[in-house]
Amino acid sequence: MTRHDPECIFCKIAAGQIPAKLIYRNDHVVAFHDLNPTAPVHALIIPLEHIASLSDLTAGDSEIAAEILLAARVVAEKTGVLESGYRLVFNNGADALQSVGHIHAHLIGGKTMGWPPFAGREVAHGEE
Ligand code: 5GP
Ligand code: ZN
Repeated sequence: MTRHDPECIFCKIAAGQIPAKLIYRNDHVVAFHDLNPTAPVHALIIPLEHIASLSDLTAGDSEIAAEILLAARVVAEKTGVLESGYRLVFNNGADALQSVGHIHAHLIGGKTMGWPPFAGREVAHGEE
């Protein structure tokens, strides 16, 4: 059965019920530009099915999990960062500042990034 949460903003994007700047779509995932980009390239890759977080993935979701990772290369190529490099980030849970409860990989690139990835204080995406 296809999982869907009618209240979930990313389910609505997957269903085309609210607009997003789409980059790529196949039978398993859709990728679109983040509304509040943190870098010149900031895309989100989400499964079409509603799965709340990485911690909710099960062995039965292995195809979906693989499709999210496989989409990264396609999205990187389409956004022009395949050669320059990019980072794939899954925020999972409160400490990681996950704010949308539908698995999403952030694909970030187009600038040189720091490491380790955390800021010195807690900041939500898009805030200074
Ligand atoms: P999280 O904080 O859960 O790791 O990331 C959620 C991301 O979704 C944030 O970077 C935020 O900017 C993005 N986002 C939230 N709502 C929308 C929306 O309606 N459209 C798009 N394109 N991005 C969104
Ligand atoms: Zn959802």
